[in-house]
Amino acid sequence: MRRILVAGNWKMNTGRADAVELAGGLAECHSESSSVDVLIAPPFVWLEAVAEAIRGSGVLLAGQNAWCEPSGAYTGEVSCEMLADVGCGWVILGHSERRQLLGDTDQLVSDKVSAAHAGGLDVILCVGETREQREASETEAVLSRQLLAGLAAVDAETIKRLVVAYEPVWAIGTGLTATTLQAESAHAHLRNQLAVRYNSEVAESTRILYGGSVKSDNAAELMSQPNVDGALVGGASLSVESFVAIIDAAREL
Ligand code: PEP
Repeated sequence: MRRILVAGNWKMNTGRADAVELAGGLAECHSESSSVDVLIAPPFVWLEAVAEAIRGSGVLLAGQNAWCEPSGAYTGEVSCEMLADVGCGWVILGHSERRQLLGDTDQLVSDKVSAAHAGGLDVILCVGETREQREASETEAVLSRQLLAGLAAVDAETIKRLVVAYEPVWAIGTGLTATTLQAESAHAHLRNQLAVRYNSEVAESTRILYGGSVKSDNAAELMSQPNVDGALVGGASLSVESFVAIIDAAREL
């Protein structure tokens, strides 16, 4: 049985006070005994303050990215070891905004996944096709390529420390959501790729989240699909009310 994970990616949003208030509000609504895992990924600069605000609540903490070396002359970058040191147990890697705007190639994402595992972090590995790729019927090929590249150095034991997130690029921050059929079909494809790359046990136990304009009014339907194991939420994770509504929808499944 795969536990549902609802993850909030705050991107480059919130000031320090908003971040602490948002994290504290979520912590109050969550308990370690919840049937659903809840994770938040604030901007790096608020991680320490947010870690304090969620202490003891069971809310999981993630970085939104990390560099692939533990330390050194990489001006402006943050290592997985630093994230772990500040209280993160997780890191989001391969987000489409990083792939499209900030130079994350398949190879770099793979290196970052290895670095995260070596540095003690679990990984949310994002994959997803653009609108042009979907229209050219390339969705499955793109998903296979990004997934297998990201997992290049991950063995059947280490993949227990990784969650896949399917995020169609055309649905991120646009208000357009994949239909349940589109989401389920992409997730089934990804699970099948995991079976081919590893085995059926890995395929059945690896969680695959959906991301792309998830809101309280579409979350239940998306997460009730057999191969959808939770959500990666951007915009709707920036208010306690809307994020908790998505968590509540997951709890009721
Ligand atoms: C995201 O940033 O991963 C995301 C899915 O954003 P949104 O929910 O705003 O589409």
